[in-house]
Amino acid sequence: MSNLERTLSIIKPDAVERNLSENIKSIFSKNNLSVLDSKKLHISKDEAAEFYKVHQSKPFYDQLCSYLSSGPIEVMILEGKNAITKNRELMGATDPKNAKEGTIRKLYGISIDKNSVHGSDSPDNAKAEINFFFRK
Ligand code: UDP
Ligand code: MG
Repeated sequence: MSNLERTLSIIKPDAVERNLSENIKSIFSKNNLSVLDSKKLHISKDEAAEFYKVHQSKPFYDQLCSYLSSGPIEVMILEGKNAITKNRELMGATDPKNAKEGTIRKLYGISIDKNSVHGSDSPDNAKAEINFFFRK
């Protein structure tokens, strides 16, 4: 298969809390993204700050880190053809109000911060983010 990639997906606290993990994973599998590994965990605010450090200069950084550490999350490695772009398409726009019909954020997102999922946005970030949660 050409361009087989891996990417990191996170099911954020708002979606874990509403028991949406299986629904979201079924969207991935229907679209040929397989879950290679997954785990549920509750990270600290410091860990969230490290994970999201690319956003440290943004006005929403502190709130974002508080939010990601506010409850359990599920992190997973997705693998498939063009997995990074494919996952971003399935997620939809950052703000659920702007997300296309059928996307995860349109279906389940509550607001721009409680938008149900994270997905790596480039090959370099995918590697770094997979390593962050799954370094062996
Ligand atoms: N975010 C926010 N307010 C904003 C922009 C972003 O709370 O004005 C949050 C939102 O949860 C988003 C995350 O910060 O998912 C990371 O932002 P990014 O621009 O990387 O969006 P994404 O890649 O998640 O679509
Ligand atoms: Mg992003």
